[in-house]
Amino acid sequence: MMFTEEHNALRSSIRAFIDREINPHVEEWEAAEQFPSHEVFKKAGDAGFLGITKPAEFGGMGLDYTFNAVWAEELGHIHAGGIASSLGVQTDMATPALSVHGSDELRHEFLRPTIQGDMVVCLGVSEVGAGSDVASIQTTARKDGDDYVINGGKMWTSNGIKADWMCLLANTGTENGPHHNKSLICVPMDAKGIDRSTKLKKYGLWSSDTAQVYFDDVRVPQRYRIGEEGRGFIYQMQQFTQERLFAALRTIMQMQELVDETAEYTRSRIAFGKPLLDNQWIQYTLADLQTEIACLRAITYAGVEGYVRGDNIRVLTAEAKLKAGKLARTVPDQCMQFWGGAGFLWESRVARMMRDSRLVAIGGGANEVMMQIIAKELGYA
Ligand SMILES: Cc1cc2nc3c(=O)[nH]c(=O)nc-3n(C[C@H](O)[C@H](O)[C@H](O)COP(=O)(O)OP(=O)(O)OC[C@H]3O[C@@H](n4cnc5c(N)ncnc54)[C@H](O)[C@@H]3O)c2cc1C
Repeated sequence: MMFTEEHNALRSSIRAFIDREINPHVEEWEAAEQFPSHEVFKKAGDAGFLGITKPAEFGGMGLDYTFNAVWAEELGHIHAGGIASSLGVQTDMATPALSVHGSDELRHEFLRPTIQGDMVVCLGVSEVGAGSDVASIQTTARKDGDDYVINGGKMWTSNGIKADWMCLLANTGTENGPHHNKSLICVPMDAKGIDRSTKLKKYGLWSSDTAQVYFDDVRVPQRYRIGEEGRGFIYQMQQFTQERLFAALRTIMQMQELVDETAEYTRSRIAFGKPLLDNQWIQYTLADLQTEIACLRAITYAGVEGYVRGDNIRVLTAEAKLKAGKLARTVPDQCMQFWGGAGFLWESRVARMMRDSRLVAIGGGANEVMMQIIAKELGYA
């Protein structure tokens, strides 16, 4: 993939934004297990970062996905995965379907303020009983007059405590099978009947708020449905394409920085009268990790190019997400080894990376689900 001067300029301004507005506060926000998302998103929205690929008529920049790839990659520079995830929900997980399939009225009401950073959004797909098996969700949205009446619950909702609206996947019918009976609906999170008081305490991603959300006879107008009724599962699968590319892109930068920092640290750390990096074992191991990251970058960039061309990139996306999930486990573990006790400190970057990156192999489709997709698409299953 060729990055132009425009891509490089965007990259520099995102990097400067992160170094100015986010990284200096990461320790404080991680300790507090939350960050001021409305404040940070407003600043990101003012800079134009929340609508890079979104249509200009709704406040976006209208650029192609290669520019969003720069955004996703640079978010890996944030020193806390929770904040990067939270921003990713806003740009790459909960808004692509609305941007493409939503009515103009809906896009004015929900997409524009989300791009501007005036609204925070969350994505409600996973449930207590349905994560990998998205088709088996139980939450229902039943028609009543001009409204939908929503009942059920969502689990693992990133941004769920603070969000102004949710992109909700719910069953809107009982016929046509589990892939054609669902719809995506914009749900204002202050609607009567929503309980999102349960904040989940997690192994990593501390500064992102993750909620369990309950719906008890929650009414929203039917015009809040995104696109056609019954096509929600398909729209969500399309959103997953972007979510998985996003995860892979962000992981490239996270892993690259970790290997670079480990090389720097081992160059400066003296043991047995010489820098640790003078040991061939460490040189070769870092060279090997570097090669793995190059493979991830190559697969992911091929996916980005295919996405821009409108190709079928189901296999490439699954491969990129799978590779990212694997490296997100092995790279931090191997790097921690070379940091020794300094890496084992609770507040070290490598320790945080180990906790935060662990989710890449689970969230947005676990590694096994990625292998299932690849096997199906290649006709093995
Ligand atoms: C911190 C966090 C934030 C999240 N944010 C959101 C969010 O904002 N919105 C949202 O909707 N969801 C969110 N999720 C949910 C996430 O996408 C799910 O956790 C994920 O899809 C896995 O679902 P599950 O946890 O129910 O695991 P399960 O479906 O119970 O699967 C458990 C494990 O079983 C294995 N497995 C599953 N299927 C197969 C198979 N076919 N073959 C072999 N092995 C298999 C995998 O190892 C998998 O990890 C989040 C999760 C976490 C932990």
